[in-house]
Amino acid sequence: MSLNAGYPDDDLARAAALIAGAGLVALACHVSPDGDALGSMLALHHVLRAAGHPSVAAFAGPQVVGDHYRDLPGLDTLTPPERFPVEPEVMVTLDCGSIDRLGDLADSARGAKELVVIDHHVSNTRFGSLHLIDAGAAASAVVTARLIGALGLPLNHDAAVCLYAGLVCDTGRFQYESTGVEAFELARHLLEFDVPVARLNRTLFDEHRLAYLRLVGEVLSRAELVEPKAFIWASVSQEDLGRHDVTFEETEGLIDFLRQAREAEVSCVLKEAADGTFRVSLRSLGAVDVSAVAARHGGGGHRFAAGFTASGPADAVVERILADL
Ligand code: 5GP
Ligand code: MN
Repeated sequence: MSLNAGYPDDDLARAAALIAGAGLVALACHVSPDGDALGSMLALHHVLRAAGHPSVAAFAGPQVVGDHYRDLPGLDTLTPPERFPVEPEVMVTLDCGSIDRLGDLADSARGAKELVVIDHHVSNTRFGSLHLIDAGAAASAVVTARLIGALGLPLNHDAAVCLYAGLVCDTGRFQYESTGVEAFELARHLLEFDVPVARLNRTLFDEHRLAYLRLVGEVLSRAELVEPKAFIWASVSQEDLGRHDVTFEETEGLIDFLRQAREAEVSCVLKEAADGTFRVSLRSLGAVDVSAVAARHGGGGHRFAAGFTASGPADAVVERILADL
């Protein structure tokens, strides 16, 4: 096993051999993908396609992503979930911590002859036939880059942009605890492919419609601090979204405002989805392992960032979370 890789070198070589030997490689990431899920999947897709190796890439559910991902090349190459192979010869999941997070693509994972699971979530349930899971990696993009290296295939501009997006999203722009030598070394390598760093920073993180900023203002103004638990929370309803003309996908970074509250050790945003369920995001400064809290509610994630889906009302969900803190 190489130092801190999280899996044996043999498994990396085995995964590369499976992929290289497959007629078609079926790539999938988790529902409502974030930058690391999309970036890791699309990067492998770009590298395979450039090498003339057939691959398809998909995620389940409506294939919409927030407009802030518009600079990720390859979003137009996604396969609709209904056209994804039902019994793929080799399927690769990226950034997906459990089989249910594949949504409707879970059946393809069950039907796959070989299922390679690439991830960095400590809560990963190891649902594949071969696992490249490194909870010490800053992003799934880091593990994906290692796999691309093991495949012996050259990186290209589009793949580098996608890997960089994954890296920059999951390291919080190289600020989180997980940011280390390998993250910076990978970034340095990726920049050899002319990654538009400033533009990506702007579109991924630093630019919003005024309507969204006004929604943020309202949500922050009604955030509640539970002082004895050093816990802060706020919720966003479908009514809020409608009134401000903001999409659900647009609110991905909302938790990043709330978690700045100095009074809070743990922060939480609950967002009502179109079906009335709540997507719950948790962030911790480290004293509390929020992946364990999320796991008790059927979700998962990392020590510092985790999530789950719950049925409301929001304050009842918060009561259940508080009972765990
Ligand atoms: P976010 O709050 O940004 O949606 O998610 C934070 C972290 O928790 C991410 O690493 C994400 O993959 C993970 N996560 C969020 N929701 C779920 C869930 O429902 N199940 C699992 N297993 N992980 C989740
Ligand atoms: Mn993710």
